[in-house]
Amino acid sequence: MLNISITKCDAPKAKPDPSTLGFGKIFTDHMFMADYSHEMGWHNARIVPFANISLHPASTVLHYGSEIFEGLKAYRRADGKVQLFRPLENIRRMNNSAERLCLPQMPEEDMLQALLTFVEMEQDWTPSAPGTSLYLRPFLFGNDETLGVHAVHNATFVIIASPVGSYYKEGINPVRIMIEDEDVRAVRGGTGYAKCGGNYAASNRAGERAAQKGYSQVLWLDGVERKYIEEVGAMNVMFKINGEIVTPALTGSILPGITRKSCIEVLKGEGYKVSERLLSIGELSEALENGTLEEAWGCGTAAVVSPIGELCYKGVQYPVNGGKIGTVTQHLYDTLTGIQWGKIEDTYGWTYPIEK
Ligand SMILES: *Cc1c(COP(=O)(O)O)cnc(C)c1O
Repeated sequence: MLNISITKCDAPKAKPDPSTLGFGKIFTDHMFMADYSHEMGWHNARIVPFANISLHPASTVLHYGSEIFEGLKAYRRADGKVQLFRPLENIRRMNNSAERLCLPQMPEEDMLQALLTFVEMEQDWTPSAPGTSLYLRPFLFGNDETLGVHAVHNATFVIIASPVGSYYKEGINPVRIMIEDEDVRAVRGGTGYAKCGGNYAASNRAGERAAQKGYSQVLWLDGVERKYIEEVGAMNVMFKINGEIVTPALTGSILPGITRKSCIEVLKGEGYKVSERLLSIGELSEALENGTLEEAWGCGTAAVVSPIGELCYKGVQYPVNGGKIGTVTQHLYDTLTGIQWGKIEDTYGWTYPIEK
């Protein structure tokens, strides 16, 4: 059990107009923080007014990138209650990421207590307009005040929250994706399966180049042979090829998404053939050419699913499903958002209501 001290802000901010909500631009009144040191373990757990963080200029995170994060949402149901979606999955993944980067782990029950106490306190910030939610961003960084390179001895854990708008303000429009055959996002043995900030820094260049050519994101290939499909942008990727749902197997360089896992569980439960396996660019181009690629979509917490309407490989453009969202993609969107916003019954036990 953490002993969480609470300091309330003097003047709560006005809640934003839901029509102005973007992603991660507005923050709530408070934040959760806790410190870790080798000697004391986790201590000084606190909820304090949202404010800048002061760091020693030699702080590990600023030099060696010791940082991991999570992303999950609180959803407001029609009856006014606020609920989380599979928060224990995020907590376990956070600790897996911490293990990979030699950052301290926090006991699951303590991290859950921190998250629930914080969300309970900030839940009035959860907007209720369709598609909107309260995005929660736990993050953890190394905070040793020395330039020495070693496993972290001091760290800081923070949770901030941001009311966010609907990802699909103008309806779900399929996106154009460029297959990236130069940069790679991650390699086996590296940090691909950890949700660490450095992975994002390393993928920005390819994302920028794709954007300049008019594409929304890149499709990543594996770092050794540039042959096997891994992820799309910062989402997992799934395909429907000749009736089979195919998603790359978790080989170490792929982030184990909770949306990915939920899609697999929903589809398997409905009798679809779902394969987590290697999918080569050769097999994908063949399916594109002979018309057996029926659907392609990205999946992640922010968008839930993002249909792919066009793939470009080595300068050749291939439409997917006539540039329209496919039936499986739409079905997954309806099912997951239905459960998340409490519009359909959660037969999986995935939702986690917050006490008022
Ligand atoms: C967070 C993330 C995902 C999606 O994970 P969810 O748990 O579904 O949100 C996929 N790929 C990368 C690289 C990510 O960082």
